[in-house]
Amino acid sequence: MTVALAVAAVVLDVEGTTAPIAFVHDVLFPYAAARLDAFVAARGGEPEVAAALAALAAERAADREVEAPDLVAYARALMDRDRKSTGLKALQGLMWHDGYLAAQLRGELYADVGPAFAAWRAAGVTIASYSSGSIAAQRLIYAHSDRGDLSAHLAAYFDTTTGPKREAASYAAIAAALGLPPARIAFVSDVLAELDAAAAAGMMAVLAVRPGNAPVAPGHGYPTIASLADLALRPA
Ligand SMILES: [Mg+2]
Repeated sequence: MTVALAVAAVVLDVEGTTAPIAFVHDVLFPYAAARLDAFVAARGGEPEVAAALAALAAERAADREVEAPDLVAYARALMDRDRKSTGLKALQGLMWHDGYLAAQLRGELYADVGPAFAAWRAAGVTIASYSSGSIAAQRLIYAHSDRGDLSAHLAAYFDTTTGPKREAASYAAIAAALGLPPARIAFVSDVLAELDAAAAAGMMAVLAVRPGNAPVAPGHGYPTIASLADLALRPA
């Protein structure tokens, strides 16, 4: 069913919305896990890698839940828990960067993403991405995707450095960064708690239902799409 909205911008979740959850969990996460020790040993002295490791070390120092004998073991423990850690996500993004450039990785996107991006942009709607994956990792998925380079369609990227995805303040900050009132922005995700947070900030929240997504309890009241082709956006 088509959901028609008048908006100035659309903000899209990645995992479970534009990319299959299986790509993230079965391809990206194992790729980084398999290379973690060697990567840290070989590249730990580089500024970006060192910054990610420093963020992880600070998180570990304050962590009352996860104990690990060293920083690499700690990173691995966070990977196992899929914790939305900014330091871990930065580290993973740096590892994936190498994989994409070496053509060992290619971003897997749903087939409807490219055509929808083109249609929305042609209509004058700004497109942005918001994911727990680092901004660098988001850029890579879209730039090196199995549908070609879609990164030119995206005007802005947001990650957990803006705030957690289940907090309304994060969506208010995104609206401010886009220079728009929240009411003129649509947010699309597969996770109800994220939609609740976006709606609490005043955005128009839309649920993405994709194969392999976690089931969502009915009665949530959000408009639902099975494909981005079902989201008809016109500028407001
Ligand atoms: Mg998601």
